[in-house]
Amino acid sequence: MTGCLAIVGLGPGAPELMTPLAAETLRAATDVVGYAPYLARVPEGMGQRRHASDNREELARARQALELAAQGKSVAVVSSGDPGMFAMASAVFEAIETGNAAWKDIDITVVPGVSAMLAAAARIGAPLGHDFCVISLSDNLKPWELVLKRLEAAAAGDFIIVLYNPASKARPWQLGEALGLIARHRAGATPVIFARAVTQADESIEITTIAEADPARADMRTLVIVGSSATRLIQGSRGPFVYTPRHAELVEP
Ligand code: SAH
Repeated sequence: MTGCLAIVGLGPGAPELMTPLAAETLRAATDVVGYAPYLARVPEGMGQRRHASDNREELARARQALELAAQGKSVAVVSSGDPGMFAMASAVFEAIETGNAAWKDIDITVVPGVSAMLAAAARIGAPLGHDFCVISLSDNLKPWELVLKRLEAAAAGDFIIVLYNPASKARPWQLGEALGLIARHRAGATPVIFARAVTQADESIEITTIAEADPARADMRTLVIVGSSATRLIQGSRGPFVYTPRHAELVEP
């Protein structure tokens, strides 16, 4: 008997930003698997049985979900934001590729979600309005030298740069080094946004510049957006907007 496995994006936090398809999939699930704080965001009545796990055990959690699906359950694995961005969808496919051959026959679907950067960008204007790239600063699963290489290329390419996983208690210095590297390619007035807990009760959004950005302001619930050379700040009576125009010029780094 084979069940099914849906990898579901919960969105950035606010219930209204969970898609109707995500809600429908969770309602239909017999079992919901995920990191405990994300499971807590699944409304009562959705998913009959819940299986909470530690955040670091992505692959183990993926295997647990596949095992339940192989037993015939309708399983949902939840991720915050979009499940394909630095999240569970890749872990599930890696578990399928390397695990039990029968798992390749399980009916798998990926239900997209609103990624945190999209919600953060919408809060302050349109900073991602032109070419951008997204880099995770976590060096838990890749060497720091690779992070630096990609940051250097993105900064020299004049991309808007979104930094996920900018800092945690165990990774306190990486963001300072990353911002220092990007600053060598940008004017000091380039807008930088620290967006924390976006669409959640304790949301805070700080707009600063690359010259003044204080890396200590970020934690594991923060993402950082660094503008390109074209990203602009508009002061208005309802607070500043940050946007990147639809046109771009060649700027030598
Ligand atoms: N799949 C998620 C990203 C997971 S990586 C997504 O698509 O949003 C975890 C990182 O995402 C955090 O360290 C933080 O940088 C960012 N993040 C997730 N939710 C956030 C939120 N509500 N506000 C700000 N950043 C968030």
